Amino acid sequence: MIYEHDSGRADVFVGGRWRPGSGGEFDVLDPATEAVVSRVSDGTEADGAAAVDAAAEAFPAWAATAPRERSELLRRTFELMLRDREALAVLISAENGKALADARGEVTYAAEFFRWFAEEAVRTAGDFGPAPAGGTRTVVTHKPVGVAALVTPWNFPAAMATRKLAPALAAGCTTVLKPASQTPLTTLAITRLLVEAGLPDGVVNVVPTRRSGPLVSSWLADPRVRKVSFTGSTEVGRVLLGQAADRVLNASMELGGNAPFVITADADLDIAVEAAMVAKFRGGGQACTAANRFYVHEEVAEAFTDRFGAEVGKLSVGAAAEGHDIGPLISAHAVREIGALVDRAVLAGATVTHRAPVPDGAGFYYPPTVLTGVEPDAEIVRSEIFGPVAPLVTWSGEAELLRMVNDTEMGLAAYVVSGELGRAMRLAERIDAGMVGINRGLVSDPSAPFGGMKQSGLGREGARAGLEEFLETQYFTIDWRG
Ligand code: NAD
Repeated sequence: MIYEHDSGRADVFVGGRWRPGSGGEFDVLDPATEAVVSRVSDGTEADGAAAVDAAAEAFPAWAATAPRERSELLRRTFELMLRDREALAVLISAENGKALADARGEVTYAAEFFRWFAEEAVRTAGDFGPAPAGGTRTVVTHKPVGVAALVTPWNFPAAMATRKLAPALAAGCTTVLKPASQTPLTTLAITRLLVEAGLPDGVVNVVPTRRSGPLVSSWLADPRVRKVSFTGSTEVGRVLLGQAADRVLNASMELGGNAPFVITADADLDIAVEAAMVAKFRGGGQACTAANRFYVHEEVAEAFTDRFGAEVGKLSVGAAAEGHDIGPLISAHAVREIGALVDRAVLAGATVTHRAPVPDGAGFYYPPTVLTGVEPDAEIVRSEIFGPVAPLVTWSGEAELLRMVNDTEMGLAAYVVSGELGRAMRLAERIDAGMVGINRGLVSDPSAPFGGMKQSGLGREGARAGLEEFLETQYFTIDWRG
């Protein structure tokens, strides 16, 4: 395994040193087998305070480092991630359960954030010009916002960490990072690569913990922390925003989704099925961008259901190590929740038309499932499923379609498959979502602004916008006459 220690557990990374957590240790499980992958140090608020001490001490020097130097650290880390791509993919699969193909894709995507922000780090240009009234000049420049607290979820253990670390470091911020307790190992492995690439002490500090609430609250209350960047559920994001409000803390929030997937009557069904498989089943449906509800035009509903259902039925579900297409869910709790949601949908009148088999015995498996006859306002359509279940709703008129699609507090991703680009664009522009995939089932790209509208979040990650989240703007007005 790529992430190992020679002796004892010392997984809290503070000020450039690995140390044991003061709260003991906890287990990280392989969701495919329920076996313990590793024990990990359990950090406490005391470890968190030490992490902020180190980040605050390192901040002035890191902020003053030449952008080119910061850029080159990121570039070297990108190369090291590609060097270790396979080992990182195996580690992601071991702690998260996702299929190896998905894990490999995640490593490439995650590494790309280091490459992208290595390029952006040297382009934090400002602005200069005469004030409209004449006489004075205005100079606009940027400063790193300060020590940034980063909190990441378990569903993309590599990419959610690099999507925050790379822009923070490019901007000149120092960081304290808390990975999800289900999947801390990948983040710890990436931290080792940053160290190998030449990371100065204190610039990145990592505290795995089983007690997320108290640790993160202590960071948000610490006057030296100036930024919080969170990815996770809307529920927790709302709590953290409340805490951030107390200190008027700069906050970026990447929260839950409920992505609609629209298929028009003239859609190419080959494209629709291919895009639907990717949008629904990548990571077993445990993606914030996952297609959550399908709106299929009534004229193609039967044909699409048959073809999509046939593909779903063929999915091989099982442990990544055995080469399956789809892995387990993250926990037994998730299996129970999704099972209950589907049972209630069936009680309310939906029909299970297709299902893939799952392995018997250990592992948190739920079968890939297609549901038809789903009412537009059904609970399963309104909830973020976060698993391999595809509820299909039929539609006939565009006005009604758009009403159903936008009838949600979520607005992260959406998908439209249509034979005519003009129609697709007309629909896409009227969908309240931060990202719309047109004739494709994937919206994530490090060079594009990732983020949501409404209760799906605040701010954007990736692109130029991702860097701006970690910068303050400052301007000087200069009397030019003298
Ligand atoms: P979660 O909100 O339970 O956890 C996210 C992180 O917050 C984890 O590190 C967790 O340990 C921590 N956390 C949990 N409770 C906390 C508390 N009270 N105080 C502080 N931190 C706390 O979410 P999850 O189950 O890990 O991830 C799934 C959710 O994340 C889904 O809703 C999904 O849509 C969302 N997500 C969003 C994006 C995005 O970019 N918008 C990306 C991935 C996942």
